[in-house]
Amino acid sequence: MTWQDDYSTRMMKSAALPIAELVRGEGCRVWDDEGNEYLDFLSGIAVNALGHAHPVLVKAVSEQVATLAHISNYFASPPQLALADRLLSLTGGDRIFFCNSGAEAIEAAFKLARRTGRPRVLSLVNSFHGRTMGSLALTGKPALREPFEPLVPGVEHIDSTIEALEAAIGSDVAALFVEPIKGEAGVIDLPEGYLESARRITAEHGVLLILDEIQTGAGRTGSWFAFQSSGVVPDAIVLAKGIGGGFPIGALVTFGAASDLLVAGQHGTTFGGNPLATAASLAVLGEIERADLVENARIRGEQLRAAIVGIGSPLIAEVRGRGLLIGVGLTEPAAPDIVRRAFAAGLIVNAPNDMSIRLAPPLIIGDSEIAEFIDIFTKALEAP
Ligand SMILES: *Cc1c(COP(=O)(O)O)cnc(C)c1O
Repeated sequence: MTWQDDYSTRMMKSAALPIAELVRGEGCRVWDDEGNEYLDFLSGIAVNALGHAHPVLVKAVSEQVATLAHISNYFASPPQLALADRLLSLTGGDRIFFCNSGAEAIEAAFKLARRTGRPRVLSLVNSFHGRTMGSLALTGKPALREPFEPLVPGVEHIDSTIEALEAAIGSDVAALFVEPIKGEAGVIDLPEGYLESARRITAEHGVLLILDEIQTGAGRTGSWFAFQSSGVVPDAIVLAKGIGGGFPIGALVTFGAASDLLVAGQHGTTFGGNPLATAASLAVLGEIERADLVENARIRGEQLRAAIVGIGSPLIAEVRGRGLLIGVGLTEPAAPDIVRRAFAAGLIVNAPNDMSIRLAPPLIIGDSEIAEFIDIFTKALEAP
């Protein structure tokens, strides 16, 4: 039986058939079951910040699982407290809630918003916040939402403009959810100055500004968290993906008064913040800092962007994003074909939609990975 047969007869039909069966990874590379090697410029969707099988992460997880893996939230643990301290000092936040995924962290933020007692919640058209019922209600993609309606009520999707925010906001609005860069939409930047204006307007109406940094966090955009390049102080940020470097973990960080909204007994999760996950995240953040990977993301991002523009392909309309979260906007709906050709030539990238290619390589990439990427990507852009 091939893995394809195996997959299509046993796995839930909720996802398309995977592209390949991968069996091993090391650094910026992965290998499939036939021994083919790939340069990984997707990192499990902006997750593997340190690449694959990084010795620092391997050591931290191995040692922690051999010491104390899970204890429930009836007990505290040293890695949990150390990670809380680390993430609060990196973000400037005041309190943190740990969970296991992005969607779960968004659910925690949604519950935080409900605690204001205000019924309306705003999020943006074309946004992505997750697939659970609450996070899906916030997601601004009707095709994902509609098969599951009725969803959690009270959410309105508005355009990513300050005019739309001004028209929608009021004292009955609990929160505005925003991705600093819309990753799943194809790496779409906010309009210039949006976060600064949104902060001013939400503050005027006592509305929480909640930033979904699940894809943009942990150094990916060339600052520890994307909001930090704007100077804005949000009420909450939502984290997952890169902070675990491949180990599942999510978190909600609150700033100021928002830190008092959830009180004892109002939220929890069995696995959230367990010693194993928090030790993994602590190791990932420690290595990002030690190896100065935030700065590497900024510099390599600029280098990569310039090199992509330098290809001079008529298929490339624009290059979006910041740091090592890059969207290549196309002039034709050719993204799926380009991604297929790249894969056949040993390069992993992805197409969030027909007009966009997303790059989210490990933060450890250097000159040789960029050169190899440009070589394969240039050929993949050429018609077969
Ligand atoms: C991936 C993602 C989510 C959902 O995270 P999961 O861990 O898949 O539940 C939410 N928001 C953004 C911006 C994401 O990129």
